[in-house]
Amino acid sequence: MNYIIGILKESMEEPRVCMVPDTVKEIIEKFQLKVIVESGAGISAGFSDEEYTNAGAQMSARSEVIQASSLLFCINSFDGLTDSMMKKTLICFSNPLFHYNQLLPLLNSHLDLFSLDLIPRTSKAQSMDLLSSMASLSGYKAVIKGAELYNSVLPMLTTAAGTIRPAKVLILGAGVAGLQAIATAKRLGAIVSAFDVRKASGEEVRSLGAKFIEVEGAAENETSGGYAVEQSTEYLQLQKELIDKHIAEASIVISTANIPGKIAPRLIDKSSVERMKKGAVIIDLAADQGGNCELTQNGKIVNHKGVLILGNSFLVRETAYTASQLLSTNYFNFFKHLLEIEKNDLSNDPIVEGCLILKDGKIVNERVKAQIN
Ligand code: NAD
Repeated sequence: MNYIIGILKESMEEPRVCMVPDTVKEIIEKFQLKVIVESGAGISAGFSDEEYTNAGAQMSARSEVIQASSLLFCINSFDGLTDSMMKKTLICFSNPLFHYNQLLPLLNSHLDLFSLDLIPRTSKAQSMDLLSSMASLSGYKAVIKGAELYNSVLPMLTTAAGTIRPAKVLILGAGVAGLQAIATAKRLGAIVSAFDVRKASGEEVRSLGAKFIEVEGAAENETSGGYAVEQSTEYLQLQKELIDKHIAEASIVISTANIPGKIAPRLIDKSSVERMKKGAVIIDLAADQGGNCELTQNGKIVNHKGVLILGNSFLVRETAYTASQLLSTNYFNFFKHLLEIEKNDLSNDPIVEGCLILKDGKIVNERVKAQIN
């Protein structure tokens, strides 16, 4: 298909760009397509307009990019997209299971919209899995942030004035972000333990040299695609009692526990925070979905009786350059897949089916429909 590709600039709070100049160059050279980039799109991630121009792109104002393009890429900057009456395809990354309100202005537009965070986590789709690439960076950054806010050091230090014991880092939720956090905290010399409701994660935790805290009786569901499912109140109570002791002893807690499309499970309540020592730190990566800690405020640092709680699901934005490079590769691999599908006229492709949200401005994705209902 002879697309004209548009790349949009994100809003002020989003420094990443979904496509970097190297990828633009690859699209132009490989597919001989025209690429138009909104002026300043890459600046906050560290990519200048000049680099995009050198890659072969044309720089334009937002309204012109939207008008002239037939296939647009962005993270979640939807402003102005409904101004055009032409049929267009939009490829984005907007957590539509949780933030489905963002879709409402786009209903009854002429957009086919794909959100790449709903790509199934299969081996075929691994190269497009932006949740994994972003989660890895977030897990790393969470430890660095925790170490920075913590009022001591992570490794054991032997000094002339005595020996300092290593910090204890507790990771709640050992998915992609949690495992990267374990690896980073270990590298910094901390004593690391971790907890997850998925039994399968125990082996991964132990293989990274951390202790796995086991709580029997978790609900698992083979149809959930490897994700966790909501747990019963009884299980959450039992879990709370067992991990509370570890929370009280921890210097840094990094919580990453999430369930797609649901409010994040509450794992740390106010009384647990009050048992932690002064100077301890909680980094809550689930803040955007309500947070794992009762005291979390999204996007803020709360000081509760000397314990600092940072609620931030977007620490990856502090690695905007690298995050944009990884996103760009994930987007490009999806785009290649889309072209392939169109060429072979393959219907019922599971990757496309998983992440196609709007078809001609109407919600077609069953998971999003169920969520809205
Ligand atoms: P996520 O961000 O949705 O959740 C993070 C972690 O929180 C998960 O490990 C989850 O089990 C855990 N969690 C949920 N409720 C909890 C609770 N009450 N207490 C403690 N922990 C809780 O998940 P993710 O990191 O994106 O990964 C989810 C799954 O997808 C994992 O099984 C992972 O191995 C799998 N995955 C597969 C592929 C692939 O096959 N290509 C790629 C990436 C991830």
